[in-house]
Amino acid sequence: MVISPLAPSETDVFVIGGGPAGLAAALAARQIGLDVILADRAQPPIDKACGEGLMPDALDALRRIGVNLGSGNGVCFRGIRFLDEKLEAEATFSNHSFGLGIRRTELHRILVERAKDVGVVALWGKKIEGIDTAGVVVDGRTVRCRWIVGADGFHSNVRRWAGLAPNWNAARRIGLRQHFRVRPWTDFVEVYWRKDCQAYVTPVGVDEVCVATIGREDIRGSDLVDMFPVLASHLGGAELIGPTRGAISKSTRLPIVVAGRIALVGDASGSVDAVTGEGLALAFRQANSLAAALAAGDLRRYDASHRRMGRMPRLMARTLLLFDGNDRLRRMAFRNLAAHPRIFSRLLDVHVGALRRSALTAIAQPLPRADIEQEARHLPQNGIF
Ligand SMILES: Cc1cc2nc3c(=O)[nH]c(=O)nc-3n(C[C@H](O)[C@H](O)[C@H](O)COP(=O)(O)OP(=O)(O)OC[C@H]3O[C@@H](n4cnc5c(N)ncnc54)[C@H](O)[C@@H]3O)c2cc1C
Repeated sequence: MVISPLAPSETDVFVIGGGPAGLAAALAARQIGLDVILADRAQPPIDKACGEGLMPDALDALRRIGVNLGSGNGVCFRGIRFLDEKLEAEATFSNHSFGLGIRRTELHRILVERAKDVGVVALWGKKIEGIDTAGVVVDGRTVRCRWIVGADGFHSNVRRWAGLAPNWNAARRIGLRQHFRVRPWTDFVEVYWRKDCQAYVTPVGVDEVCVATIGREDIRGSDLVDMFPVLASHLGGAELIGPTRGAISKSTRLPIVVAGRIALVGDASGSVDAVTGEGLALAFRQANSLAAALAAGDLRRYDASHRRMGRMPRLMARTLLLFDGNDRLRRMAFRNLAAHPRIFSRLLDVHVGALRRSALTAIAQPLPRADIEQEARHLPQNGIF
């Protein structure tokens, strides 16, 4: 257990929540010379259900706050492969960029080390019970601060204390994470699809893969082998390592993510369905953008850039969830993506921010979209996008 220091009586920035988003926000704020206290109710390294894949944009955003990750920290992957019972389509990242599969606890350990190195005062094992007009209440006394960053995750209390409410309309899914001891058979993140459920596989070690299964509530009692026989054949009865962890996966969106001196980052500020693999990238990019707004003393700037950053991942979440719910639509789309791998790769570039969203129409031009659009018209539309 890490013994936390006594909290100083004041600071520039108080970050509530020491998951990846909170640590990234703390690092970004230190980088512009602000004093930072961060508190988390848990002890590091903190584990959580996660697909454990960092997309290239996540790695770029981390680099900007002084965290350089590469093959020494996990396993590099060069793109995404979609598979269902009959079809397979893959896309590689452009310009030799790569993503990184890294155990959640390892990522947390690295971020915690870096935060310590740059002088973030971290209070581990401290649950924050409230805020008041002067700052954050810790152990019954107020730590005065200029800014409060709410990085306390999906069920954020800071969000509630700030009077900010998310839109909960989107489908609620359950994500389960497991690790298997097996040599990775691919240098792609593989996403196995079936109706109402996906399993995605990220290589995270020389002899270890992470499997995140995301679907409706009933997946909890289901058997991976029955649901995804091809994946099961790769796993070949490999040993399950460590505990299975579960979490809710859901797209949520807030009309505004700042209130007075309070700003939200990471899942506290809205989330995208796990199948996008973009939750961490968004959190790290938000941290950079929040620091720029803090430097300018204007949180509205952060709110505006937060909204811009979320558009593409939300669009992707919506599209991928259409594939989740409709076998015919998914097959049609996968057939097209398999026939046009370059287009799939460019779409992936747009997804990870390497190409502008405005390029989408031109990229998708060769795809026979009429069938897909017709099919999509019959599907219920989700209000939050
Ligand atoms: C199944 C699944 C798979 C996923 N796969 C991927 C993936 O492959 N790639 C990707 O980029 N994203 C993925 N995501 C999304 C990603 O995991 C989240 O976006 C990310 O964890 C958000 O980080 P966070 O720091 O905002 O929240 P969290 O990691 O939830 O951290 C919040 C922290 O706040 C602390 N806290 C809460 N309340 C208090 C309090 N009152 N006082 C003190 N501390 C408090 C908690 O202890 C916790 O440590 C996945 C999500 C799921 C559910």
